Amino acid sequence: MSDKLRSIFTTAAHAGMPSGDQHGAVAVPIYTTSIYEFPDAETADEIHNERTPGYYYGRLGNPTTEAFEKAVAELEVGGSAIAFASGMAAISGVILSMCKTGDHIIAPVSHYSTTGKLLRFIEERFGIAHTLVDSTDPDTLRSAMRSDTRMIWIESPSNPLLRVIDIDAVAAFGKSNGLITVADNTFATPFNQRPLTLGADIVIHSATKYIGGHSDLTAGVAVASREMIETIRQSSGKLFGGNISPQVAWLALRGLKTLAIRMERHNSNAYALADMLAACTGVVKVFYPGLSSFEGHEIASRQMKGGFGGMLSFDLGALDAAKRFVDSVRVCTLATSLGGVETLVQPSISMTNAGMSSSEKERSGIPDGLVRMSVGIECIDDLKDDVLDALKAAVANSNR
Ligand SMILES: *Cc1c(COP(=O)(O)O)cnc(C)c1O
Repeated sequence: MSDKLRSIFTTAAHAGMPSGDQHGAVAVPIYTTSIYEFPDAETADEIHNERTPGYYYGRLGNPTTEAFEKAVAELEVGGSAIAFASGMAAISGVILSMCKTGDHIIAPVSHYSTTGKLLRFIEERFGIAHTLVDSTDPDTLRSAMRSDTRMIWIESPSNPLLRVIDIDAVAAFGKSNGLITVADNTFATPFNQRPLTLGADIVIHSATKYIGGHSDLTAGVAVASREMIETIRQSSGKLFGGNISPQVAWLALRGLKTLAIRMERHNSNAYALADMLAACTGVVKVFYPGLSSFEGHEIASRQMKGGFGGMLSFDLGALDAAKRFVDSVRVCTLATSLGGVETLVQPSISMTNAGMSSSEKERSGIPDGLVRMSVGIECIDDLKDDVLDALKAAVANSNR
């Protein structure tokens, strides 16, 4: 394990420690206020008109929120961060801050389904076009690139197929062509992968997932250089207003402190389950970047320095079997979302990825029998027993 990785345990544990005049509080206080008193008119003028840093209105800054932002920026090794009320607020905020009508975005076919819906929406309503590409090697990117291309979107590993993108190669292509590379790092988390250190310009997270880590909040965050975050803050923060509340920022920061130790367990549990599932009759295919037989394994080994993550999917051949599986689990919970301490399962095609046209479905490559699993931090033996029992119930002719 490298020094960088060792230090994330320390960075996470100390993330967002308050400094200065807070009565020695070791935990960040929740500043439940929307306004801030000024000592005099001159200071009010200075702060309100942003010539001097300071708080003046809830939508535009809060010390608790700032502690959370600073913590995520530190973990992602970025200059600055801005928190949002959800992952989608971060995604729409970043895209609409950085792109304008007439611009074009390149994105991978395999992505979080709502990101795809947003791309279609802003193309229809605002004329920000996009092209989806199957692979993100430089040749494919070059053929998708247009004179008006402004941004490359990356999601690696992707939701729900765990497709792996060579972030270093894509970011280098983006840089040499003057494009902004944005990475959705929700699945990997900064424990496993830090896209900014691989050359990406902006990282976004659904903090609802691993960053919060306890399935008890909805939040998002974007990390980038100080200048880019300031641009995003001036538009998304100030004008669109999808800002996080200080209570939620506090809860997300509380979750973040145990990110490293949670991810260690998510990684090892998911690896063990993927390995087990790959040998089970009735399982057509296991999607997990940690398996040496998986398409993206080599690239993942290079860029996912901390581990391969807690997300895996497997194909049971038919939606019926996937439904029988999720109806049979007893330790795992049938629910959407991911990244919490408890293991979640869902049949992708009838939940997160429902409502696709048949051509969209074919293009997405998501099989009907796909079960997506967010592997939690429970005892691995309990998880293995539960999965094997549910498989037995779900798959006819299973030999387990
Ligand atoms: C959940 C998710 C999002 C959206 O985040 P919300 O917090 O639900 O708005 C974006 N990207 C990925 C990869 C996700 O899993």
